[in-house]
Amino acid sequence: MPGTELFGAEERKEIEDVLSTGVLFRYNHDALRNNHWKAKDFENEIKKITGAKFAHAMSSGSTAIATALAASGIGTGDEVIVPPFTFMATVEAVLFIGALPVFAEIDETLCLSAEGITKAITPKTKAVCLVHMCGAMADMDSIMKVVNENKLILVEDAGQAFAASYKGTYTGLFGKAGSYSFDFFKIATAGEGGVLVTNDETTYKKADVYSDHGHDHIGAVRGMEQHPYLGFNYRISELHAAVGLAQTRRVPAIKEKNKKHKKLLTELLSQVPGISFSKIADPEGDSATFFNMMLPDTATAQNVVGEMKSSGVVGFDYWYKNMYHFINQWDHIKEMRTVSKLPIQIIGSPQDYKNLNLPKTQEVIGRLISFGIKYKWTEDDVKQLANKIAICVNSVTKKVTA
Ligand SMILES: *Cc1c(COP(=O)(O)O)cnc(C)c1O
Repeated sequence: MPGTELFGAEERKEIEDVLSTGVLFRYNHDALRNNHWKAKDFENEIKKITGAKFAHAMSSGSTAIATALAASGIGTGDEVIVPPFTFMATVEAVLFIGALPVFAEIDETLCLSAEGITKAITPKTKAVCLVHMCGAMADMDSIMKVVNENKLILVEDAGQAFAASYKGTYTGLFGKAGSYSFDFFKIATAGEGGVLVTNDETTYKKADVYSDHGHDHIGAVRGMEQHPYLGFNYRISELHAAVGLAQTRRVPAIKEKNKKHKKLLTELLSQVPGISFSKIADPEGDSATFFNMMLPDTATAQNVVGEMKSSGVVGFDYWYKNMYHFINQWDHIKEMRTVSKLPIQIIGSPQDYKNLNLPKTQEVIGRLISFGIKYKWTEDDVKQLANKIAICVNSVTKKVTA
């Protein structure tokens, strides 16, 4: 992924700053830290790119989405609508705050659709945890309409969509709170890290307190702080924040390059019969970390995957069968295998997770093949890849029509 491709002097400089003082903790120790505040700088960089009023760096995208849900007032027994195509962290976050995931249909945006959300609403629905998948964004106008009409809380898991926007508003900022991930596989990495964003001061303050054992971070003496709420430790270290800061500064350039590569791939492959693309709700706002192509049906997609594997094409994901991002691979939730009892096991599941009926989602993910876009590709690399993909698709579709 782009962030990891560019690890270099800038990252080392920020890490050196932290190592030079030895203050690896993000709070306090003012006299020792030589004015280095990497977590705060990281947060400011995120605010600069997204326009968020508040940003709070944390230990991971998973803890950031869990905190976003909790700080938005979602808890035990609340039904939360989630997509069946996401990184599992979204569903885990809902379960571990005591809430009850309700799976709804996605569409060709690869995100929950307004129609899917509408059908999944029950009298117990409290919130929608919308996930912006594969670097792009959900169709926000239609989704906001459903959310507002039904007075639902919107929380956005933008783990894969930092720096993506829809009609000028950045992902994570449509609802009460949102989260980005800076793990090793995202557009920018902190090693491990996540950032919660919100425009709501109350939600931000709750998140700040919740993610650090209830400390309110007022005053210079940690032991003397007030504790408005219970919390836990979801803090980021200064070392991770230092890397996240240097990497985040690279994101505008990464996004520009990604978009150029994606545009060329799309142009070249749109001429191949049988290939179409995922729907991008606002192409202008795409972070373009993934190139998402769709085949006419699941069988064709699987044959193309086979063809690409045997002809040595690399760098793609077939989520339907091979990846941990799709409900078909989540046996542990279907069988509710837990190391210790969760609230859902006492309250009861709102859906039979073993027998979900999500035909649209199955069809969309069955047809989807995604390529991670690489910053360091040359124009020639892109042309060669497009050519290889076209050969594989053509050989499959010709067999079918012959
Ligand atoms: C990566 C990711 C997460 C989890 O982030 P971590 O930093 O690995 O905990 C959550 N949601 C989505 C959609 C992701 O892609």
